[in-house]
Amino acid sequence: MRPTGRLHLGHLVGALNNWVKLQDEYECFFMVADWHALMSEYENSKIIKEMIFDNVADWLAAGIDPQKSTIFIQSQVPEHLELEMVFSVLTPLGWLERCPTYKEQMRELKDRHISTYAFLGYPVLQAADICLYKSLVVPVGEDQLPHLELTREIVRKFNGLYKEVFPEPRPLLTKVPRLLGLDGRKMSKSYGNFIALSDAPETIMKKTQGMFTDPKRIRKTDPGHPDECNVHRTYEIFIPEMKEKVHHWCKNAEVGCTECKKTLGECLAKFLSPIQEKRRDYAENKHKIEQILEYGRAQAAKVAGATMKEVRDAIGILPCPTK
Ligand code: SF4
Repeated sequence: MRPTGRLHLGHLVGALNNWVKLQDEYECFFMVADWHALMSEYENSKIIKEMIFDNVADWLAAGIDPQKSTIFIQSQVPEHLELEMVFSVLTPLGWLERCPTYKEQMRELKDRHISTYAFLGYPVLQAADICLYKSLVVPVGEDQLPHLELTREIVRKFNGLYKEVFPEPRPLLTKVPRLLGLDGRKMSKSYGNFIALSDAPETIMKKTQGMFTDPKRIRKTDPGHPDECNVHRTYEIFIPEMKEKVHHWCKNAEVGCTECKKTLGECLAKFLSPIQEKRRDYAENKHKIEQILEYGRAQAAKVAGATMKEVRDAIGILPCPTK
């Protein structure tokens, strides 16, 4: 995950909840992708350091367990860039230019100057991130599938040319509920249309009040269309026990949108309260996060170092004398 901003409800349903479950089934590596963050935030790079601690506090509060999983910062394991170098040699430009997410990001991040050599090579660094740990599966959303396919192509090329070092990673597709932002667009850090996991109850109340609702319901006495309303969708995902009730309120024009959103705000604040309490403990004891990240770095470095030795050997590059 790139530390470019505060985490929001979309991250919780789109990634974190799934990661928490995966910890019991797989040996997991969770990486703070600060080099990836630098690619888009290089003009405002100070934010990255701050967001690393902020995001990791959210991960831990959401249930990522350092006893079960390796949590580390990408830039503290230099082998990521070493392997990226090797993979970049094997990657024709056409593979990168074809990547649909590259084009999408160029459109989405119009305010940044990301038409750079590094940004085009983003999926090559991702391939290195995955392969350094000889990952067998990668939890991805459908939109990330082309990136993973590119990783698989790089792996095939490497293994075919030199030696069978890497397994071909498979996607672990998880169905995640589609959560829209407050304004009805995709929930995104760049649109600023989200409820952060760390938002105070007053902020949550204010944000839910501004949510986009069923545009066909003009007066309180008009029956609404809850299945087309993002407020109802949000209840469905986070407060499922209220789903039927809200549906009934809306269909029968029993409750107005203002009240419906006010109740949602209260429910969300309550829902986030235990996560925020744990988060506060980490925020107040930053050394705990530092220890977790240092432990994770050492674990990750062991695996990454061993893989890079094999890579150098397979290609015929001298081993690094400092390792
Ligand atoms: Fe949406 Fe609630 Fe208004 Fe119905 S009552 S349109 S669910 S905000």
